[in-house]
Amino acid sequence: MLYIGSHISASKGYEAMGKQALKLGANTFAFFTRNPRGGKAKAIDEEDVKRFLALSEEHSFGKLVAHAPYTLNACAAKEDIRRFARETMADDLLRMEFTPGNYYNFHPGSHVGQGSDMGIKLTAEILNEVLKPEQTTTVLLETMSGKGSEIGRNFEELQKILEKVEQKEKMGVCLDTCHVWDGGYDIVNDLDGVLDTFDKVIGLERLKAIHMNDSMNPFDSHKDRHEKIGEGQIGLSAMERIINHPKLKGLPVILETPNDDAGWAKEIALLKSLYRQEDL
Ligand code: FE
Ligand code: FE
Ligand code: ZN
Repeated sequence: MLYIGSHISASKGYEAMGKQALKLGANTFAFFTRNPRGGKAKAIDEEDVKRFLALSEEHSFGKLVAHAPYTLNACAAKEDIRRFARETMADDLLRMEFTPGNYYNFHPGSHVGQGSDMGIKLTAEILNEVLKPEQTTTVLLETMSGKGSEIGRNFEELQKILEKVEQKEKMGVCLDTCHVWDGGYDIVNDLDGVLDTFDKVIGLERLKAIHMNDSMNPFDSHKDRHEKIGEGQIGLSAMERIINHPKLKGLPVILETPNDDAGWAKEIALLKSLYRQEDL
């Protein structure tokens, strides 16, 4: 089964997100746990969540891949920015438990001149403060393209965060195809090699989700500009290989392409048409 979906606006609640996903032909989706720029999250309506859970079961949804706000920077130099990250993550993780067993993805952050070792240390510290033994949510570190002072520019940096986290079983990785391509992992010509490297450095069992984006920029450019599926430098045949790779099959695939609803519906249908059920 291909679990695929796009980002969906959370402004109308969970049931509305589920219905919108179905409209797009999706069976999973991503949503921002609050305004991507931060701020206060909407109160959870438990009846709405119940209706969503029923809908999600009826339509056999895959795991959701919630996204933390972009403004969250767990390894900022300023304590008040780190406090915002800590409080936001802790609150988001409580909210995630209303829809148990899903994924919460975040950008490891930018070390803003403190150096990547410091960035890694601060990010791991916050994770150790917010992860709770009783949570059913898995927190995902997203692979980043390495623009500016981003942490997570390579698999080694993600591994260094993971090894410092006490509750490792609560952690995973989300592979963003645009980011790894821009970051210097050749998923077009050597997907097997990239996955072998991931396995050696992090362990493929930690890979939980895929952000499927084409890239406007060439290999190893360390930029981060998403392009529509098949219209960028990665191309459709590489994406077809990714969704059908035996080591990746079954992972939720989330589109973060520059699109409107019609564009996402088209991309979801396209990738579904390229997915080979029989290999499973
Ligand atoms: Fe992201
Ligand atoms: Fe992403
Ligand atoms: Zn990106």
